[in-house]
Amino acid sequence: APGLYLVSTPIGNLEDITLRALRVLREADRIACEDTRQTQKLLNHYDISTPTVSCHEHNERERATELIAAMQGGARIAVVSDAGTPGISDPGMYLARAAIAAGIPVFPVPGANAAISALIASGLDTERFFYAGFLPPKSGARRDALEQLAASLTGAATLVFYEAPHRILETLADVESVWGCAARVVVARELTKLHEEFARGTAAEVAAFLKEKDRIRGEIVLLVAAAPRSAASATAKPLPARLAELMQAE
Ligand code: SAM
Repeated sequence: APGLYLVSTPIGNLEDITLRALRVLREADRIACEDTRQTQKLLNHYDISTPTVSCHEHNERERATELIAAMQGGARIAVVSDAGTPGISDPGMYLARAAIAAGIPVFPVPGANAAISALIASGLDTERFFYAGFLPPKSGARRDALEQLAASLTGAATLVFYEAPHRILETLADVESVWGCAARVVVARELTKLHEEFARGTAAEVAAFLKEKDRIRGEIVLLVAAAPRSAASATAKPLPARLAELMQAE
């Protein structure tokens, strides 16, 4: 059927794409890509020859006008980002809104997503979670954003962030200062890829584990088991106290 198809693509392992996604990409009149060269690799792998057109942060608005006109004329337009689910810290939302405003059907084609993949294997609470995307890169703004998040929580929740490898240690330190040194965190790195890895523990333990590497590389999801602010400060104990407790338990 004519309309806008938001198609999820792999986040590393090329097998992580659904049969429906492959069919939709094959049958679409055009694929709007965050980066046409990146998507071309996926299309080549699956022998898909649908024409691509670029649609990214900087041209999503102009492109939307053109694609909406095509869909009004009966076209099926697929939207993909470089990896994972379009619209999730990636282009796609503007086009979806423009299509809805123009009365064009919008179809989700679900699949890989780094946040959900990290969450389900983290061991942290999956019942109540908050996806917070990328934190501000500058430390002052990042601290403010974390403080605001902490203040806004009404109950325990798992917070899910995307973070760059060169900032993860700073961010772990900020997480510790906001939620206390007993707070549990998980760093999920290179999901679905050869060097997939999970580091679980306190912010300090996870930082120490990451520091053992020459350089922290790859793509990272950071998860924090966040208690609401008042409870967090009440239960936050310095690491030595926690270790002592663990030793007693032994
Ligand atoms: N739309 C994508 C999704 O559905 O997950 C996210 C796009 S966002 C621009 C890219 C960020 O997602 C990376 O910086 C990293 O934090 C996270 N990410 C993407 N792929 C990942 C992977 N294989 N392992 C860990 N994190 C990943």
